[in-house]
Amino acid sequence: MRSKGPVWCAKCYLRIAPYAPQTVYHKNTYHPNCLSKLVREEASQEKTVRLGARGTEAGRRKSA
Ligand SMILES: [Zn+2]
Repeated sequence: MRSKGPVWCAKCYLRIAPYAPQTVYHKNTYHPNCLSKLVREEASQEKTVRLGARGTEAGRRKSA
């Protein structure tokens, strides 16, 4: 796969050097470090949503 022109990281918006390692995720290009940060953030967001759903359920049981 040939890629011409500069590539920007979709996380930190810095240019990724052609010789530097780059990772493609969801059709966006990231630094490997930035991608790991992004994945962590997404994971924590999922946890928050799940905990929120559980919390609501527990609250209903207590109030009822
Ligand atoms: Zn980056």
